Parts: sequence; C-alpha cells; structure tokens
Amino acid sequence: MLVRALSPVPKTITTDIYAINLSYMTQISDNLQTIGAKLKKYSLQYNRAENSVKLLAVSKKHDSTKIREAYECGQRAFGENYVQELWDKYQELSDLDIEWHFIGPLQSNKTKKIAEIADWVHTIDRLKIAQRLNDQRPENLDPLSVCIQLNISGEESKSGLSVDEVTNVAKEIIKLPHLTLRGLMVIPAPEDDFDKQLDVFAKVSAIKEALSLELGIELDTLSMGMSNDIEAAIAGGSTMVRIGTAIFGQREY
Ligand SMILES: *Cc1c(COP(=O)(O)O)cnc(C)c1O
Repeated sequence: MLVRALSPVPKTITTDIYAINLSYMTQISDNLQTIGAKLKKYSLQYNRAENSVKLLAVSKKHDSTKIREAYECGQRAFGENYVQELWDKYQELSDLDIEWHFIGPLQSNKTKKIAEIADWVHTIDRLKIAQRLNDQRPENLDPLSVCIQLNISGEESKSGLSVDEVTNVAKEIIKLPHLTLRGLMVIPAPEDDFDKQLDVFAKVSAIKEALSLELGIELDTLSMGMSNDIEAAIAGGSTMVRIGTAIFGQREY
C-alpha cells in the first residue's frame, strides 16, 4: 500500500511527493500500532478479556485524508465532536464502511443530522436529546447506540448527568425503540496520579453495574480513557478509549 507506482514527473519533485506521502502514512500507521500494542499490554496486565477494549480514533479537526489513511490501516471507529464537521466528513468518506461516533456536546436543534448519520452518540446529557434522536432516527437504520454522559467529577462547568439523575433518564431511554442504551461515558477532571485516576474509573464501573441491575439490562459499554489516563481506564473497566492526538498529531484550530 505504501509503495505506489511513480508517474514520470521530474525526479526531484517525485522524490518530494513520495517522501511526504510516506512519512504521513507511516506515522498514522505507527501510531495505531503503538496504541494497539498498549491496549493489548494493559488488557493482559489487568485481566481484561481479549479485545474487550475498543479504540475510538478521535478525528476532530483533522481532515478526511487522515481518516482515510487510518481506515486503510484497519481502523473502523471514528469519533467527531462537531455536527457540521461530522456531516462533511460523512459525505467525503461515504465510500468507506466507517462506524461514526458523536462525542461532542449536542444541542437539540442539531439532533436531526446526527440521528441520520451517526452509529453512536456518547454524550446524552438530558432526556430531551435522547427523545429527539429517537424521533428523528430514520426507520431504515439500526437503532442508534447511545451512552449517557456521567458527570463524575461534579464540577459545575462539566456537562453530564449526576449519578442521581442517570438512573431516571436511563429508565426512559430504554423505552425508546430507535435507541439502544449501551452504557456510560465520562470525561473526568484532569488528574495525573494513577491511583486517583483508577479510583474514578472504578467508581464509574460500579455505577454502570448497579445501573445494569436496576434496569435489568446488561450495559456493555464504558466510554472512558484518553491519552493520559488510558492505563487506569483499562484497569478500571473501560471498553472504549477515545484517542485523538496520539494517532493524528496536533489538531489545527
Ligand atoms: C478530543 C477528545 C478526545 C481525544 O483527545 P486527544 O487529547 O486528542 O487524545 C477524547 N474524548 C473527547 C470527548 C474529546 O472531545
């Protein structure tokens, strides 16, 4: 895949283009391999079942070319934060079999586009959003997989539902026919200490188990863990880590 036939253009230019392509592609490929190896290592280390932690490649603010490169390396699940950006990429990459995850804050006037193109929404933070997504989900598509965003750190500025609110909203969501409640998503307050990170993740994991019991439904997803807390997240029971920069490099704002 890396070595392409070179067309007969002047040698210097050919070499330049070739060099750019090569470094670009090997970088994303290398990064995916490095992260894949980490997932394997930590899964083994913390007695997690094989392949129980999925990698969500967070591609916000990176163009479609990079997503295509990651796709060619075998990555299928991509996460986006902005409705219009997801919509544009969805169109540009319509020839690929991508699983699209929406992981940004979702306003109620923007739910329709998401209902039409996303496979997952991680950031349900009120019932109204879930109801709109349900009502706007086209009949010919599978139910939309959703996670409730839990505000575990209790900060005023962070979005997500409190532990107390989660159960009531979950009970309503499971009645909606075009949504499938998969579990919980968290973005904990930044923390460098491994043990403190793990405390939070273990707590979220326990909340998910309790919720499963209460609902009588086995919730299979914990969307938690980013670049700086991936190990603690896996130790704490994450089933989906969300990684952007370590795959695609710095975002261009
Ligand atoms: C941007 C983002 C990520 C990925 O962050 P990186 O620092 O680029 O790895 C993960 N989760 C959410 C919700 C995000 O918005």
